[in-house]
Amino acid sequence: VPELPDVEGFRRVLEDHAIGERIARVDVLDEGVVHGTSGAAFERRLAGLAITRTERRGKWLLAQTNGPTLLFHFGMTGSLAWSTKDASERFERVRFGIDGGHLAYLDQRKLRGVWLADGDAAIEKTIGRQGPDALRTTGAQLTQLVRGHRGAVKSVLMDQHVLAGLGNMSSDELLWRARVAPSRRANELADGELGALGRAMRSVLRASVRVGRIPTGRTWLTSQRGVRDPHCPRCHNSLRTSRIGGRTSLWCPTCQH
Ligand SMILES: [Zn+2]
Repeated sequence: VPELPDVEGFRRVLEDHAIGERIARVDVLDEGVVHGTSGAAFERRLAGLAITRTERRGKWLLAQTNGPTLLFHFGMTGSLAWSTKDASERFERVRFGIDGGHLAYLDQRKLRGVWLADGDAAIEKTIGRQGPDALRTTGAQLTQLVRGHRGAVKSVLMDQHVLAGLGNMSSDELLWRARVAPSRRANELADGELGALGRAMRSVLRASVRVGRIPTGRTWLTSQRGVRDPHCPRCHNSLRTSRIGGRTSLWCPTCQH
């Protein structure tokens, strides 16, 4: 599931291949991912424009052009890839033809997709209200954001209205690093725990953004996801899964309190 580090990776794909380039043609292969306009109008409005700037806001990716801004939200299964092959990839939904190849928006489940927005007000309306971007949030700011909520800390971290960008995997990872159980009430965390959470967030995001995903090396909790009998990479005791905020949390009952 694409979270902040993955979307930052997709932003780099745009930067590397599309910035300053003209979108020669657009092919909507599946209209189900185009929002607010028809596939034909989407193709017509973007064709011939140049991508001038990219920006990530939480899990949203924005590509500014010399016309409307193109917005991507990757939902549960979306991705953006550069290709120089003519054959379309499995689950390719929109193709943006650029000199030398094309950008492919791929998405199996089509929960979100692509939008066009004219001007800042339309961009804000499409994205909706969301909290500050997690990558640009300091430990002190995180403390302020988290402490005002009574829900489970895991749910608060994943709530895009509070903090934009974290998802199920990154929240689990930083709670595990901070040794805080995911079901703890956010407003009952001690100062030391909030401080540890802030430090964990900064180091997890910094390392993840570098590789465009949450690393799966053996010192990462993520390495145990999907494993039949998951063990804590730190204390080697068994990990537990719990349902929190509608998502499955992986955590260590020995290390996390
Ligand atoms: Zn442990």
